[in-house]
Formats: sequence, structure tokens, C-alpha cells
Amino acid sequence: MKIKPISQHGMQLTRFGLMNCYLVRESDGFTLIDTTIGGSGDQILAAARSLDAPIRRILLTHAHVDHIGALDELATKLPGVQVAIGDRESLMLPKPPKQNLNPLPGEPPCKLKGGYPGANTPATHLISAQELFGSLRCLATEGHTPGHMSFLDERDGTLYTGDAMVTVGGKPHVPGYGPWFFPLPKFATWDRPTSVAVIQRLISDPPLIAIARLAPGHGPVLEGGRNLLEAALLEVKA
Ligand SMILES: [Zn+2]
Repeated sequence: MKIKPISQHGMQLTRFGLMNCYLVRESDGFTLIDTTIGGSGDQILAAARSLDAPIRRILLTHAHVDHIGALDELATKLPGVQVAIGDRESLMLPKPPKQNLNPLPGEPPCKLKGGYPGANTPATHLISAQELFGSLRCLATEGHTPGHMSFLDERDGTLYTGDAMVTVGGKPHVPGYGPWFFPLPKFATWDRPTSVAVIQRLISDPPLIAIARLAPGHGPVLEGGRNLLEAALLEVKA
């Protein structure tokens, strides 16, 4: 797993050059944002060890397989770890039959796409929009999935976007964009118009702390904020 510092508090861990998760330093250890795919747990634990701090919390942007894949193996090896996910997204986190993959009343009636394998590890905390989780402001960024959340580090302006924005190829994209070399976020996106509306909302009603960089689930970290969101919207209109 490739380990790369991306800000004063964040480290990017990349698996196979395609999937990112992040260790965000807090006063008592790390918050791990997402887990990539199954089989990544030992490498994530080794990365935290090499950085001399324990993982205290696992925070999930959404319940797709390439974000929760290593949750169970990590939870087994981190007794007492806190596991947090958005309240809406938590309906997709359990394995069947508890898992609910149906749109709720009032949501676009699109079918959920992408892999939702579910996990045996239950969430210990359900996040609400605008909640402050450690140093991270939780922002509702639905669209890629119905309950997707992104996390803004209010200390350094890093927005951990999950799949609400992707940067494959080094450019910002609203999910639903899928180049031939990486079509996953395209095929796995639930409702692209909702994703577009959320990016518009982040521009017109920005978070109190300005976005300084995007740290996505797929692609490199990009420096910038509003300009990157606007560039992604221009591509949608093109
Ligand atoms: Zn996804």
C-alpha cells in the first residue's frame, strides 16, 4: 500500500493505484476514513503502526464494496474501535436480510448500483449531516449513493470526498463520469443529477471552513476548492 502525506493531518493510503483510504490524525490517534477492499486490513494496520499511532475510529463515506471491504477484518483486530457511518447509509451496511437496498419515500426511485456486500460489524455511531466528528465536519453528499457523506477537516480544509467527487486522470469529476480506464464510479452511481445538485450546493452554500483540497476515494489528491467543483460541473454541461 502506498502511503503519502497529503496535508498537515492526513495520510493517503492507496491500494493497486486505484483505491484510497485515509488516516487522519487526531489527539488520541487516527480516524481511518474508508477501508478499501477486503484483504487490505493488515496493510492499513501496518501503515498506522509505521506512523506511530493507533486507529481509534473508522469513518465510512458509503457502503460500497471498495470502501467497506476491509471493515470486518479491521474491526476484529481493533477491539473497541468506533465505527461510524451516515444514518441513511447505515441501512445498506448490514448483510442481508437486515440490509435495505430500496430507495426511501421521497428519494429518486433509481435502483442502487454497485456492490453492497454488507458487513458483519455494526456501526457504533450514526452520523448526522453537519455533525462535527473529531476535527471532521460531516457533509451530506448524496447522489453516488443515497446516504453518502464527505468529511471536511476544519483544521486544514481537506475535503475527504469518498465518491462524491472522483479525480481519476488528475482532474475533478462529478461521479457518473467514467473514463475507459476506470469506469467503476460511473456504473456504481445511483443518481447523477442528485450528485450534480450536491456539488452545486457546495458552491452556493459553502461550508464555513473553505475547502483547500479534495481527497477522493479514487484518484490523486488535488489542491483547490471551489475552482475544482466548478470545473467538474463544467464537464457535466459539456
Ligand atoms: Zn462508491
